[in-house]
Amino acid sequence: MSDVGRVWIVGGGPGAGDLITVRAARALAGADVVVTDRLGPSALLSDLGPHVEIVDVGKAPGHHRASQEEINDLLVERARRGLSVVRLKGGDPFIFGRGGEEVRACRAAGVPVEVVPGVSSALAVPALADVPLTHRGLVSGALIVHGHDRLPSSACAVAASGDCTIVILMGVMFLARHAADLVESGADPATPVAVVERGSTSRQRIVRSDLANIAQVAGDANVRSPAVIVIGAVAAGEFLGPLDAVVHTSIA
Ligand code: SAH
Repeated sequence: MSDVGRVWIVGGGPGAGDLITVRAARALAGADVVVTDRLGPSALLSDLGPHVEIVDVGKAPGHHRASQEEINDLLVERARRGLSVVRLKGGDPFIFGRGGEEVRACRAAGVPVEVVPGVSSALAVPALADVPLTHRGLVSGALIVHGHDRLPSSACAVAASGDCTIVILMGVMFLARHAADLVESGADPATPVAVVERGSTSRQRIVRSDLANIAQVAGDANVRSPAVIVIGAVAAGEFLGPLDAVVHTSIA
């Protein structure tokens, strides 16, 4: 097996074309194949040369999303043909991105693989919404969890103590249940919550309330995935002072 190619597991950032790293942009520029899905900087795909094969594994024919195994096989198969393969992901590949599974699959197949870290939505989307995840003297850390299932007990303990911020990804669908569980575990119902939808894009929206009311408020506003939910004192409206008129800027 001579001339095997290489796979890059690339974090593309939260969506804005200018929140991708220089290293990730270089990997994209050198790609023969880009395997992409729903999240990440999809506008950048139109800048790729005509010879670049783009495989959207989030929108396979018949609306069946490719399984992780199919994606792994695709990466390995293209690399074995000697191609440079970029697996472009939203945010960072190792934060709820299944990047670890793809790296393992490549290594198991003897295919060279490199990881390019990305700007995770867990960190960047709150920042874009004026929400610092830590703040000296107020909160001493942040816990990032996924919310497509029951929250882990660690999140309930953190919410009850109030000394760390909680960041929930993939949590919009079960927002009501998560808020209720946290309050039941001892969190103050008045704890501020910010939900930031489509962060870094021109359609970014921020919805705020408290734990007692956020499900209602977000439901009324018809908040949809992708959104990052931030719970804690730092999520209060105007925590950093009044917002400028310009809330979305891009240097692209
Ligand atoms: N690896 C990604 C996360 C993938 S899980 C990262 O590091 O960002 C997918 C979840 O990420 C979404 O359900 C949502 O909670 C969050 N997300 C990703 N991009 C987002 C965006 N632009 N705005 C808001 N949330 C986003």
